[in-house]
Amino acid sequence: MFIVSIDEDVCTGCDLCADSCPAGILAFDEEKKKSYVSGDETECMGCEACITVCESGAITIMEI
Ligand code: SF4
Ligand code: SF4
Repeated sequence: MFIVSIDEDVCTGCDLCADSCPAGILAFDEEKKKSYVSGDETECMGCEACITVCESGAITIMEI
């Protein structure tokens, strides 16, 4: 099982990660211009698709 988290202070708001997530647990906040984990963070499959598209290194996944 994996847990995903996004560091808002590091996110540059490129809005690439939400669409990359096959689990559908990432979303983009249009007001804050930041991405966030909108679903159950433990539904992360550990595929690393979001990490691949994120150039800022704001996303961390941890195996638990
Ligand atoms: S690692 Fe994969 S399943 Fe997990 S949040 Fe990123 S894109 Fe979604
Ligand atoms: S890919 Fe990274 S920088 Fe872009 S919106 Fe997602 S967390 Fe932020």
